Amino acid sequence: MEERDLRLCAVEGKALESLCERVYPAPVRAHRTAFQRDRDRIVQARAFRRLAGKTQVFTSRASDHFRSRLTHTIEVVQIARDVAAALGLNEDLAETLALVHDIGHPPFGHAGERALDKCLKQHGLRFDHNLHALRIVEHFEQRYAAHRGLNLTLGVREGIIKHSRDYKPEEHPALRSYFLGERPPLEAQLIDLADEIAYLTADLDDGVESGLLEIGHVCEHVAILRRCYEEVAKQHVGIDQRYLFNEALQLMQHALTDDLITTTRKNAEAIGARSLEDVRRHSSRLAVFSEQAESERQQEKRYLYSTLYTCSALENEHEKAEEVVTALFNFWVNNPQELPQGYLNDSEAEGVPRIVADYIAGMTDQYILLQFAEVRRAVRR
Ligand code: MG
Repeated sequence: MEERDLRLCAVEGKALESLCERVYPAPVRAHRTAFQRDRDRIVQARAFRRLAGKTQVFTSRASDHFRSRLTHTIEVVQIARDVAAALGLNEDLAETLALVHDIGHPPFGHAGERALDKCLKQHGLRFDHNLHALRIVEHFEQRYAAHRGLNLTLGVREGIIKHSRDYKPEEHPALRSYFLGERPPLEAQLIDLADEIAYLTADLDDGVESGLLEIGHVCEHVAILRRCYEEVAKQHVGIDQRYLFNEALQLMQHALTDDLITTTRKNAEAIGARSLEDVRRHSSRLAVFSEQAESERQQEKRYLYSTLYTCSALENEHEKAEEVVTALFNFWVNNPQELPQGYLNDSEAEGVPRIVADYIAGMTDQYILLQFAEVRRAVRR
């Protein structure tokens, strides 16, 4: 395989200069690039540390081995760096975007996000975790004396918003400086797929660990995993099913990663892409899976939805998540004076519902449960 042949499309050279701009001037550090500095700012952020206490799929910690949002994030970093390196892209940018990609997720995984969105809809607003991530790095992280936020580069802020989907300029006028009519750089495009690869592998692993999925059933219904399993079973005769499954998961992760690298390279070559501008102006994203890998990805995703994400065993957790988020949201919307002072101050400019959603979205699973218990006690008094 020819390596590093998308260098011309990478965020390097001139493209790098413009995407390294910050809102507030920051002195240059000789031994670290701008994106390395952003990476370190993110790793030092409070919102980043809180990822350790946020659900990925399983809310109740029935096993010490389930992924949290933090360990999931580290797995995405690993894949994103591999892909960026293989294609000759800017590895620092890819790493930084992978580290920050889930920073806007509320507690209780997707159940928490759905609940928060439902609450906001009643006030004519929506919850979007990418846009919330931007609010975190621009407003809620306070580490500098001269300004709010982490003062990240334009390239990282663009990637935070656009890594997983495109936003229409007419619907988001406030985001006009983020090239909304154009595709993001390949370093941002690949994050969404690295994320897919990471959770498609991890959720089968955690699903089997939880006892909700069974290896034979997974192999029967997930074609890509079945193929990998049959291959490793041929190589390791007489080995316990669980170890073969682990090997099959690794093989599947490698197969999807290789497919992403090969397909992205092929797509860039097909349109003769020779610069970041060519990537930006193309009508669709170049970083995608091949047709076969994409249809197998969709098959596995459907399987995970029906057998794991929406299974009755997790339904109780989802209902509890919705109850907690909704009760706290309504409590603070009706009693904004009970919010921490900083949030209360912000509510004047942004309106109470948005600020309450910001406050809730920042919480870990454990912290929101403590708040729920406290508020319930206070209401009863
Ligand atoms: Mg993710």
